[in-house]
Amino acid sequence: MSKIFITGHKNPDTDSICSALGYAALKRSQGVEAVAVRLGSISKETQYALDFFQAEAPELIQSAEAKQPVILVDHNEPAQSVDGLAEAELLEIVDHHRLGGLNTANPIFVHIEPVGCTATIIAGMFECRKAELSKKTAGVLLSAIISDTVLFKSPTCTEKDKKTAEKLASIAGVDLQEYGMAMLKAGADLGDLTPAQIVRTDSKPFSFGSYKAIVSQISVMDTTDILAQKNELTAAMQELCAAEGYDLALLMVTDIMEESSELVFVGEPKQLIADAFGKDASGDSIYLPGVMSRKKQIVPQLTEAAAKL
Ligand code: MG
Ligand code: MG
Ligand code: MG
Repeated sequence: MSKIFITGHKNPDTDSICSALGYAALKRSQGVEAVAVRLGSISKETQYALDFFQAEAPELIQSAEAKQPVILVDHNEPAQSVDGLAEAELLEIVDHHRLGGLNTANPIFVHIEPVGCTATIIAGMFECRKAELSKKTAGVLLSAIISDTVLFKSPTCTEKDKKTAEKLASIAGVDLQEYGMAMLKAGADLGDLTPAQIVRTDSKPFSFGSYKAIVSQISVMDTTDILAQKNELTAAMQELCAAEGYDLALLMVTDIMEESSELVFVGEPKQLIADAFGKDASGDSIYLPGVMSRKKQIVPQLTEAAAKL
């Protein structure tokens, strides 16, 4: 069998990169030939984590060849996965998202658990399988947990994520709060990102009923600068819908400090957004206090509203 590719989702976030690296390290420690790969560019936040722990970024791939053995981490929806997945040989899924329509030819290993981060599951596997966790791997897995749980503030965060992060921080030799804030700050730096890049960086396609939507998220320390560009952002979102055939584009502008999101949107039906969040959605954005999680506070609400529309 050729080397197993371990990949996170398209437009990879820190969990998709770091869980792929961590799971590949675990597999290799058990004598399995596995390599972490990625389906898109590395974000500033992820780069900060990789540099800090002197870890190499996974190799970028464009698609999977037919029969390529593949393991999916941090996702399971085909639309978010590697091109060619249907013809590849899917071996395993390790994830913390809803199930999203995958069919397989053969029985496969699946570990899906509703925790805040895939890396929490993978750190637990190191323990179960009595594999040695290096400082570097502990550091990258820790970075993923900090990212996905927004340093434990996200409603997706569980006690298990916190406990695991504390253990990993001590192995990695970092102060959890200090390292966590530094990494989130690095990721919140918009720098020279254009509106088109902002709406595409952390974006995922979904189907809500018969509507095709793309839901993006950008997390910042202060939303003032980014919301000052709302017109440019909605123009970029219109373009994205036209180019890729989406009915709706939504962008969560998440304020890490305030623990809230401004949900910016374009497209139709706006009624779907009004119903999902119980707000007047006739404009181009709504304010959602306490909302930080796409998977728990945006996607289920839109899914439910679409079923009733
Ligand atoms: Mg992810
Ligand atoms: Mg994740
Ligand atoms: Mg995320």
